[in-house]
Amino acid sequence: MKKSRKPMGELALIEQIRHDFAASRSQTLTLGIGDDCAVLRSPTDSEVLVTTDFTLENRHFRRDRHPPESVGHRCLARGLSDLAAMGATPLAAFLSLALPADMLANKSGQSWISSFFSGLRSLADLHNVPLAGGDTSQSPANLILADIVLLGSAPKNKALRRSGAHPGEAIYVTGQLGGAAAELEAILKRGRRTSTPVNLDNHPHLYPEPRIDTGEALLRRNLATACLDISDGLSTDLAHLCRASAVHAEIEQSAIPIHPLAQKKGSMTALKSALHGGEDYELLFTAPASVRMPSSIAGVPVTRIGSIKPRRSGRPLITLIAPDDTRTTLEPAGWEHFSHG
Ligand code: ADP
Ligand code: MG
Repeated sequence: MKKSRKPMGELALIEQIRHDFAASRSQTLTLGIGDDCAVLRSPTDSEVLVTTDFTLENRHFRRDRHPPESVGHRCLARGLSDLAAMGATPLAAFLSLALPADMLANKSGQSWISSFFSGLRSLADLHNVPLAGGDTSQSPANLILADIVLLGSAPKNKALRRSGAHPGEAIYVTGQLGGAAAELEAILKRGRRTSTPVNLDNHPHLYPEPRIDTGEALLRRNLATACLDISDGLSTDLAHLCRASAVHAEIEQSAIPIHPLAQKKGSMTALKSALHGGEDYELLFTAPASVRMPSSIAGVPVTRIGSIKPRRSGRPLITLIAPDDTRTTLEPAGWEHFSHG
């Protein structure tokens, strides 16, 4: 199919993005938005890490529920969290955006787009990650579709993987779990779009905080043998770690740090949100039992929640130990938020 010339609205939008993100400082970005490619200088003795994530309307957000700033924030947060999980330092972000035709033409659409970029920019500035390029196109449907690519760097052969856990090691999580699921539930119940909060703290679903500094510190201080981020829920992501490392995990229920927003719901629902609720974007990692783990790393609390055991064939991947010592199998049951709607 012949590529049509870019409509004026798209050219103006790209010019606006270029202008708004021009101030982002980066020692690694030689050339940003405006040419056919961005040019990056890779740091010496390091490797480049790449991750990409879709943000699709009605799957990852709803236009009638989420403030546009939150959509922009979460779009970048997902990729940053993947970099954090590997202990990487962000280098640059690239954003491909498909917008419904009428959004560029009307005031409310333009205002949505500009708020989306302002949410994305606030988080980008916080972590010094430049938006170095992307693509803009008309969406084939009346749906907003975004794909973000994040590049990061880590010292050669040091990136934290899922596959490094060994029997005898301890299992840790950062922060608290279940908050994102609890906040999402409240948002969906409300029945109208949530307004943009003045303070972005303590909004684990709308404004999650990717643990970049903590991931970098885990790598630099050699504290973790395996690591990943909790994007689909503890039960699902811990199963990924167990599979990749060929080990079994035992989790102590009473040790799981549950977010106060989840705790409001009664203990059973709270536990379910903490075990299976997705999008907390905390880090889940392992370390030898001999390591004296600090109680917080880069300002984020770290909690020991269990230990790694040898894998035996036929046995489930994860055992949950209740406060009365009853042992049950923990099945991976992280959920996809809008898969039913
Ligand atoms: P080309 O047709 O050569 O791919 P484009 O007109 O698509 O160029 O893009 C022009 C410049 O604007 C490029 O540097 C590109 O990376 C950047 N760009 C386009 N869309 C976006 C976007 N949504 N976010 C960031 N940069 C963008
Ligand atoms: Mg292009």
